[in-house]
Amino acid sequence: MSADRVFVTGASGQDGGLLVDRLLADGASIVALVREEDAGAARLADAGVEVVVGDLADLDGLADAVEAASPSLVVSLGGISSVAESWRSPARTGLVSGAAVAALVEGAWRVEERTGTAPRLVQASSSEIFGDASESPQRETTPIAPVSPYGAAKAYAHRMVQLARARGMHASNAILYNHESPARPLSFVTRKITHGVARIAAGLDDHLSLGNLDAHRDWGWAPDFVDAMLRIARADAPGDWVVATGETRTVRDFVGAAFAAAGIDDWQRLVVVDPRFVRPADVARTVGDASRLRTELGWAPTVAFDDIVAAMVRHDAALVAAGETS
Ligand code: GDP
Repeated sequence: MSADRVFVTGASGQDGGLLVDRLLADGASIVALVREEDAGAARLADAGVEVVVGDLADLDGLADAVEAASPSLVVSLGGISSVAESWRSPARTGLVSGAAVAALVEGAWRVEERTGTAPRLVQASSSEIFGDASESPQRETTPIAPVSPYGAAKAYAHRMVQLARARGMHASNAILYNHESPARPLSFVTRKITHGVARIAAGLDDHLSLGNLDAHRDWGWAPDFVDAMLRIARADAPGDWVVATGETRTVRDFVGAAFAAAGIDDWQRLVVVDPRFVRPADVARTVGDASRLRTELGWAPTVAFDDIVAAMVRHDAALVAAGETS
């Protein structure tokens, strides 16, 4: 496949940055839709990315932007990516994480009308579409039953991508479980923990406030997940693929691993549970079965849980030492 012209939303996020680096290394040309106020826009332009200013909430503008770019591949990473934030902005989440994906499909169909060939499309779908899943581990066939505004928006987008596929487009869902890296925003629990632990280790804080420590998550390494999305984009046939490590750990496990990486064993007294961080509804446990991705597309996770945590703690210790916050 010639993935040589790629339209990306969410290019200034964690996964977007990793994807852009991979695509530039492959010699692709990239068109990135970014908001005007987005600090990442200048960095993308400096890297040689064609930056189009727009808002995912402007559905007509979004479809127009895809049509104008006439890409061979659309990668949909944009939207509200935090479950916690989706409870504060459910309507906007539905628009930018749900309806915006239909606008990308609409734009792709217009390209097809004009050129005879629709671009391929990969949607960053999510384990949150399964909610409190009826089976464990979850697979591509697990019933969709979201329990958050984020999950509901992602479920709509997921279905829209399947409908585009039914109409003949090479449109796929990468059903992504939590995936982390030093570029994860501080609003996510992993980065909040590694940054907090680095501050405690440096003597800047004396405790870390968290919510539900018993939640289980299947946490992977973000560069592996971006690699999975590229494999899915380049697969012979489109489809839906779970992208997950198959291992699940508690938030408490993550905290313990982060303190261990910082050389602190006696950490229990340093962690405070604050009800402000406990969610109205929280998925108790996620774990994904990525057998399909492993067997059909040869994917496998390359970084183990303890090494993910250690890499993030190392990064945050260096930031704290340099007097920077994120
Ligand atoms: P999510 O799985 O996409 O919602 O990713 P997060 O990293 O935001 O949350 C992972 C889990 O950590 C959820 O079960 C949260 O309820 C739990 N958690 C516990 N304390 C915190 C906290 O202080 N901040 C966040 N963001 N999550 C927390």
